[in-house]
Amino acid sequence: MKTTTIPRPPRVGLVSLGCPKNLVDSERIMTKLRSDGYDMSADYAGADVVLVNTCGFLDSAKEESLSAIGEAIAENGRVVVTGCMGKEAEVIRERFPQVLAITGAHQYEQVVEAVHEAAPPAASPFTDLVPESGLKLTPRHFSYLKISEGCNHRCAFCIIPQLRGDLASRRPDAILREAEKLIAAGTRELLVISQDTSAYGLDLKHARYTWKGREVRAHMTDLARELGLLGAWVRLHYVYPYPHVDSVIPLMAEGLVLPYLDIPFQHASPRVLRAMKRPANEAKVLQRLRAWRAEVPDMAIRSSFVVGFPGETEEDFRYLLGWLEEAQLDRVGAFRFEPVEGASANALPDQVPEEVKTERYERLMELSARISATKLAAKVGKTIDVIVDAVDVESGGATGRSKADAPEIDGEVLLRDAGHLEPGDIVSVIVEDADDHDLYGALTAPAQAVPERSIAG
Ligand code: SF4
Repeated sequence: MKTTTIPRPPRVGLVSLGCPKNLVDSERIMTKLRSDGYDMSADYAGADVVLVNTCGFLDSAKEESLSAIGEAIAENGRVVVTGCMGKEAEVIRERFPQVLAITGAHQYEQVVEAVHEAAPPAASPFTDLVPESGLKLTPRHFSYLKISEGCNHRCAFCIIPQLRGDLASRRPDAILREAEKLIAAGTRELLVISQDTSAYGLDLKHARYTWKGREVRAHMTDLARELGLLGAWVRLHYVYPYPHVDSVIPLMAEGLVLPYLDIPFQHASPRVLRAMKRPANEAKVLQRLRAWRAEVPDMAIRSSFVVGFPGETEEDFRYLLGWLEEAQLDRVGAFRFEPVEGASANALPDQVPEEVKTERYERLMELSARISATKLAAKVGKTIDVIVDAVDVESGGATGRSKADAPEIDGEVLLRDAGHLEPGDIVSVIVEDADDHDLYGALTAPAQAVPERSIAG
């Protein structure tokens, strides 16, 4: 009879110092580690890694923390430090350079990630109730990848910072590990999301982390490059056009990141943008769009706009329409301004009547449909890559998306004679027809696998 060996779970030793609040933090970390499949070790010898949760309240407490770290290193050697002394990482590093990772108080995800890194739990289909890639609500072939939470801006129409707080970025190595698991489980397209993707890592002071032996900064460009090297399509959402976004464009030219940017402009009139308190509200955006398109000619730019913001005049609105004519955005979504409870815009004078909002909304959608139709018509006769979302075996048709289309919000590519495909296939398609928002086409070649990328130099 064949026997099955269930792998031994890694063991974590814990030294918890300081006040009851620290103790509660330790409980929370250990609860998470236990649910991730770790065992606890009562002594140094049995531990695969030792976690020291430090206190830094008084000098004497700091000294005690340092001596606890020293003891754990002497007795075990594999030590992760967390807690209040994480703020003084240089002091710890100076005395104990061999410490594996240092995280601060309340950085639960970071410390758990550091333990995973130091002693990865072996996956076991016999004991794991949840697949390694986690439970997903999207189809297997595409996944949203959240890189940060919260937002440092205070746009007048938005209450997200009140609900979710200031920007809190995830460590790049944690994001990359999640992405790798998702890809191993069948994801072929990663949709990078956050409230403000361009601000990623600002709160971590763009610190450097190690990923597969390389240094990766907590920065949008480094993260986008490393995600691209994993081999799936990488689509960037909620990118504000800060100057450093220019450094992501070469990654699109190299094919590491999809030639697609979702930039929530929300308006174009400088007066309205100021009243909205929008970030990256700068006059030269059109110039930058032109420069990006010169570098990556097939780049698709998607955006959303709010019409009827308090104080928006007919002149402001016409400015927006003129701007859109020039910007030639590929995909546009629009919303009529709604006074969300708690938003500062609600108190602004000159609220726009509902019928005016609706009329402007319709004019904007009409213009964007016209721009989209012209841009899509220009694709007829071209060959594009399409990721298949759904297949209808009966009709022999399939629905997919080009590199210019994110799921749910953009258009689709409708394929004929494609009933043999599977969701997630990436196929080469000749575009035969187009309407305002969608393309129609047929396969040029059999389904191909996404080529594996090698990491050069
Ligand atoms: S609209 Fe976006 S950038 Fe502005 S505050 Fe809300 S989440 Fe932040």
